[in-house]
Amino acid sequence: MSYDYDLFVIGAGSGGVRASRIASSYGAKVAVAEEYRIGGTCVIRGCVPKKLLVYASGFSKDFKLAEGYGWTVGETSFSWETLIERKDAEIDRLNGLYINTLSNAGVEMIEGRALVTGPNSVRVGDQEYSAKYILIAVGGWPMMPDLPGIEHAVSSNEALHFEKQPDHIVIVGGGYIAVEFAGIFNGMGSQVTQLYRGEQILRGFDTDLQHSLATEMKARGIDLRTSLNVTKIDKTEKGVILHLTDGTTLEADAVMYATGRAPKTDGLGLQDAGVALDKAQAVIVDEYGKTSVDSIYAVGDVTNRVQLTPVAIKEGHAFANTVFGNMPSSPEHDAIPSAIFSQPPIGTVGLTEAQAFEKYNGKIKVFKSGFKPMKHTLGGSEERALTKLIVAEETDVVVGAHMIGLDAAEIMQGIGIAVKAGLTKAQFDATVAIHPSSAEEFVLMR
Ligand code: NDP
Repeated sequence: MSYDYDLFVIGAGSGGVRASRIASSYGAKVAVAEEYRIGGTCVIRGCVPKKLLVYASGFSKDFKLAEGYGWTVGETSFSWETLIERKDAEIDRLNGLYINTLSNAGVEMIEGRALVTGPNSVRVGDQEYSAKYILIAVGGWPMMPDLPGIEHAVSSNEALHFEKQPDHIVIVGGGYIAVEFAGIFNGMGSQVTQLYRGEQILRGFDTDLQHSLATEMKARGIDLRTSLNVTKIDKTEKGVILHLTDGTTLEADAVMYATGRAPKTDGLGLQDAGVALDKAQAVIVDEYGKTSVDSIYAVGDVTNRVQLTPVAIKEGHAFANTVFGNMPSSPEHDAIPSAIFSQPPIGTVGLTEAQAFEKYNGKIKVFKSGFKPMKHTLGGSEERALTKLIVAEETDVVVGAHMIGLDAAEIMQGIGIAVKAGLTKAQFDATVAIHPSSAEEFVLMR
C-alpha cells in the first residue's frame, strides 16, 4: 500500500512539531497541518507570551525594592500598548523560527483545519491526503461554564491582546492561569479581583503552597475572594457587571475566565474514524500514544493527561522514536516538575504532603523552612518564601519538594532531577549548600 505521507500530523504545537521533526530525521515523509500559527498554544498564546508579561509586571515591585538599596527610581509609567506590540513582535520571531525548523527538517506544512476521514486519510479544505500514520496533536482550548452572558467574558487568549489595559479586571478560577494572570495585571497596576468557587486556590497543590500564595497575593493588593462564583454577566458601556452567588454584584472593565482547558477534538472526525474518546472528549491512548485505531496516535493536551508543554514534547519525541526510530519509548508521567509563574512563583515536584501521607500510610517525614529572602531585607518587602520536603520514612527517599518564593521555578528544575532520581534525604543533607541563596534551604532542612 502506498501513501502520500508516512506521517500526517494534525496540529503544529509543541508535541506535533517535535514529533514531525524527529520522525523526519528517521527518514519519514512528514506533513503537518495547522489551522492557525505554527508554534501552538505555548508559543503563540500560552507559556511564552505569558512569561513575557510576568517579567513586565514584576518591575513595579523591583522599583520599590531598588529604593531600599539606595536607588532613586523617580517617576515610572507603564505602557500596555508598547508591551503588547513588543511581545507580539517576539512571538512573530519565534513563529518564524518554528517554521524554519520544520522546513529545515523537510516537513511539509499545510495550512488549514484538518479532518480525519479514515484510519489513513485526512482532508484539509478540498484536498484529501493519505498517510500510513496520523498523529493527533491539536491541543486544548479554554473552557468556560455555560451561564447567561458568558459571551461577554474573555479567556487568556484575548487577555494577551486587550487593546487597552483594564483598570479593573475580574479573574474567575483558582488554577495556574488564574493566579498567573492575577499577578500580571496586579503588577501592572490594574485593580484585580479574583473569584474562586472553592475554599482555597490551587486545588491539588500542597496546602502550604496554597495558603502561602493566597496570603502573598492578598498582600500585594489582589482582592482574592473564595467560595464565590458568577451566576450571570451583563454587558455595560464600560465593561461588565457580574452577578455573584452571594447575591452581590461586581462591576469591572473585563472578566477573564481561567476555568480549565478542554481537548480540542470537536469536529475533527475522530469518532467517525473509530478513535475512542473519553467523557472529557480527550483521545484515549496507550502508553505509546496509540489510540483505539492502530494507525492513529495522539500526544499532548488532546490526551488530557498532563497539560504541560514539556510533557507534550516528550510524548511527541517518544512517539517518533517508537513508530519511526525502532525504539519503543513510553514517556514517564511521574515526578514531573512544574512551576506556576505567580508572584511570588511556585515550583513543585512529586507528591504533596497529603498524597504522600495517603500513599505511605502516614509514615512520612515533613521538613519545612519559612524565611524572608535576602533580597527583601534591604528592599523592605514583607514577602516570605517557603521550602518543603516530603520524605518516605522507611526508605528516606525524598518523594516531594515544594517551594514558593523568589526564583522557585528556576530552583525546582535542579531539585526535580534529585527527586526523579529517587535520592534520599541523607543525600540531600550530604550536599554542600550554596550560600547565600534560597535554594540552599533544600539541603539544610533538619
Ligand atoms: P486549572 O485546571 O489549573 O484550573 C481551573 C480552575 O477553574 C480551577 O480553580 C477550577 O476550580 C476552576 N473552575 C473549573 N470550572 C469552573 C466553573 N464552572 N466555575 C468556576 N470555576 C471553575 O486550569 P487553567 O485554565 O488554569 O490551566 C489549564 C492547564 O494549563 C493547567 O492545568 C496547566 O496544566 C496548564 N498550564 C500550565 C502552566 C504552567 O506550567 N506554568 C501555566 C498555565 C497553564 P476547582 O479547583 O474547584 O476545580
